[in-house]
Amino acid sequence: MEGNTRGGGHSEALKNYNVGRTLGIGTFGKVRIAEHKHTGHKVAIKILNRRQMRTMEMEEKAKREIKILRLFIHPHIIRLYEVIYTPTDIFVVMEYCKYGELFDCIVEKGRLQEDEARRIFQQIISGVEYCHRNMVAHRDLKPENLLLDSKYNVKLADFGLSNVMHDGHFLKTSCGSPNYAAPEVISGKLYAGPEVDVWSCGVILYALLCGTLPFDDDNIPKLFKKIKGGIYILPSHLSALARDLIPRMLVVDPMKRITIREIREHPWFQNRLPRYLAVPPPDTAQQAKMIDEDTLKEIVNLGYDKAHVCESLCNRLQNEATVAYYLLLDNRFRATSGYLGADYLQSMGRSFNQFTSSESASPSTRQYLPASNDSQGSGLRPYYPVERKWALGLQSRAQPREIMIEVLKALQELNVCWKKNGHYNMKCRWCPGFPQVSDMLDANHSFVDDSTIMDNGDANGRLPAVIKFEIQLYKTKDDKYLLDMQRVTGPQLLFLDFCAAFLTNLRVL
Ligand code: ADP
Ligand code: MG
Repeated sequence: MEGNTRGGGHSEALKNYNVGRTLGIGTFGKVRIAEHKHTGHKVAIKILNRRQMRTMEMEEKAKREIKILRLFIHPHIIRLYEVIYTPTDIFVVMEYCKYGELFDCIVEKGRLQEDEARRIFQQIISGVEYCHRNMVAHRDLKPENLLLDSKYNVKLADFGLSNVMHDGHFLKTSCGSPNYAAPEVISGKLYAGPEVDVWSCGVILYALLCGTLPFDDDNIPKLFKKIKGGIYILPSHLSALARDLIPRMLVVDPMKRITIREIREHPWFQNRLPRYLAVPPPDTAQQAKMIDEDTLKEIVNLGYDKAHVCESLCNRLQNEATVAYYLLLDNRFRATSGYLGADYLQSMGRSFNQFTSSESASPSTRQYLPASNDSQGSGLRPYYPVERKWALGLQSRAQPREIMIEVLKALQELNVCWKKNGHYNMKCRWCPGFPQVSDMLDANHSFVDDSTIMDNGDANGRLPAVIKFEIQLYKTKDDKYLLDMQRVTGPQLLFLDFCAAFLTNLRVL
């Protein structure tokens, strides 16, 4: 290992590390291997050059990755030990993955044996599930961003394109590599997040089992056509259960696509599922409070104050002691095969299925929107739309077609014009107090009756406010459907008035 002066002249900032060779080149700079001097453990340091980031207007990407990774503790998500800021650079100190990208592994080995592919896939799904439980969609899942540690365990990496999912707020950014991108993403439609990760995982599973990509073409329009049409070939060497699972993940309609929970229950996934992956991990706050006694002893032996370490860990602070603690902890568990999971199984004392069914009314049901039909006041925190975007929705167990028929009836009653973007997504326009004159492409739903919701007519003869909004139906993790409404333009309060009238019309209030 080289001395850190040869590691780019960052000697003061990286005084606790001996920086070594370059492991890979990222968008903003190099990722280098380093040795943590106190513990002797290896780490990877992502060096982000601030000037370069500003020029590329990508500071946001880096900030997002740091914000998200800082919170996560999961055996299959890359650990972030510390972030060091200097005026010129940001150093992101992460868990080191000895065997690099899963991509290289597939290129080198070709398709994997089914058991090996399943082992890797189970790890990926558990990492993705953890992200979703913590309200993060990765959105750039591909074998280049899945790293392998010294035991060939998978680590989800590169959260630069990931996004925090907010209740009642849906994502639209086109993300990631086109080969792995879901049809709704490349079509620029709104999406909740989890379903696009499921699609990418389907492409990854295909790549693991077949050694090729399901959708590929040098010509991008042709590639998009294949993805949007869900056109791919399933090789005959695949086992019956794998042949069943892959097409369920690569369903073009996100509403009909399998969910992470259903993947977990699939017999192909359940086969040889290690004990520690059989239950979902606790959330990040719970994890922070779980202090490993042996690692704590080790850290005290290194000269750190016990009370200070415990307090810092519980409060999720980053300092020398916590960096050393997590490095020791991770390397201890990596050396044994159990990792964190064995503990979970004992402490929870129940199987995954019991866990999820008893949790069916848990926050996961409500993670996506303010549930306007939650009249029980079940003690859960109220969900308010975030980022100052007014959004409102409702949840139903009815079939998507039935829901859409009811929705269209209500829109019709309220004199709303709409243009269908797809079966479950529409652009809408509402002009209170006036008969609608459609200026939409699909003008067959314009109604000229006077049954207005409220009379907002302006005495000065100005044009009344127009509200434009989008409606989208989504499938939730627990097989319910939820309808999201998002204001695009127009006064916010008026939009709320409209939502109230709309929900009354749908008879949910
Ligand atoms: P970017 O966000 O710019 O794509 P990545 O986080 O994907 O950057 O890192 C770029 C490359 O550096 C990776 O594809 C991988 O080859 C290497 N790399 C990144 N992190 C690690 C790590 N923790 N251990 C080993 N190699 C890594
Ligand atoms: Mg990358």
